[in-house]
Amino acid sequence: MRTAKAEFLPFARPSITHREKDAVLQVLDSGWLTTGPTTKAFEEAFSRYVGSAYAIAVNSATAALHLALDALGVSDEDEVIVPTWTFAASAEVVVYRRARPVLVDIEQRTLNAPISAIDAAITSRTKAVIAVHFAGHPLELPALRDHLAAKSIALIEDAAHSFPSRVDERENAYAGTFGRAGAYSFYATKTITTGEGGMLVTDDAAMADRARLMSLHGISKDAWKRYTAAGSWYYEIEDAGYKYNMTDMAAALGLVQLERAEELLSERRRLAKRYSTALAESPVADLVSLPAGMDDASHAWHLYVLRLNVDALTASRGSVIDQLNQRGIGTSVHFIPLHLHPYHRRTWVTDSTAYPVATAEYERVISLPLWPGMGDAGVDRVVDALVDTLSSARR
Ligand SMILES: *Cc1c(COP(=O)(O)O)cnc(C)c1O
Repeated sequence: MRTAKAEFLPFARPSITHREKDAVLQVLDSGWLTTGPTTKAFEEAFSRYVGSAYAIAVNSATAALHLALDALGVSDEDEVIVPTWTFAASAEVVVYRRARPVLVDIEQRTLNAPISAIDAAITSRTKAVIAVHFAGHPLELPALRDHLAAKSIALIEDAAHSFPSRVDERENAYAGTFGRAGAYSFYATKTITTGEGGMLVTDDAAMADRARLMSLHGISKDAWKRYTAAGSWYYEIEDAGYKYNMTDMAAALGLVQLERAEELLSERRRLAKRYSTALAESPVADLVSLPAGMDDASHAWHLYVLRLNVDALTASRGSVIDQLNQRGIGTSVHFIPLHLHPYHRRTWVTDSTAYPVATAEYERVISLPLWPGMGDAGVDRVVDALVDTLSSARR
């Protein structure tokens, strides 16, 4: 008899059906591959979905954040507040503008930056706050928006984790639509995907115009139309722009994923709940703390971030990751706080002790696989492996 070796359970895997495949094939057959009618349709569908006046499709959330800071006129005189608990992109875009990223600590419960921490970092140079809805758990909205508006500081939402998080069910108030601009990510591991891609949303016409201009070489309006029947060969370069446009192949994927967003969310929520229930009832319940927001309908569940009670374990978080990997389970860490990275330490961090929560939580976090399609059996396998690993490492 042959015992089947369990297949590797990856940390993330996109949910792609025949509908996405058909949509991409249609674009390939159409003869129009780059920014064109499908990208326009995706922008329109997205802005309708979240209720923003404008949506500009780009090739990443990083691009969307950069365009938002450009449109705000952020410059070398300015400071932009960014949580230390985030991905590289949230801070590097500030440096693209030659401004100073000012890192702030997070709160332990949600791993989000609380208003109090943001407030303490505000100076006369603060131009904007890049707010991250970590793991898909929205920040205190609209309180943060109102708080910053009173100080004339722009709120830019890094909504890379939080689509389709709705802060208020009645109002269709999506996280990402509270600030001057919001940036969504369609990277392969995110809640909906176009492979690589992003969307900038705003209600501000001037910001939308500027972002659209700069997203395609600073070339005058609707540069992409120049190769269509309706287009003209003539264009003007109005500024030194960027090459941030989305392809129609990506947009075709995005349109289908957008239609499936609620279905994908409810599966993520269901799997997250299964994790929490199983872990709470497991023999290692005292060795972990479960993520906050389980009963919060606004959570987008991009990530399921477990905290290990490392003081009660003989194994470090890193060794738990290795042992899970040996059992065929992929995990990740979100995030290695920015203030611990060599670039930030060397360049921007003046006091490395200023982030006690993020520094401590970093030693404990582990992101478990969470993706539609992993199924109940996938969750149960991860829980079983965790129970085994942690039980044998109990102090
Ligand atoms: C993924 C991510 C981004 C960047 O998204 P891209 O589309 O890959 O540019 C930005 N911020 C956070 C918090 C992310 O997790």
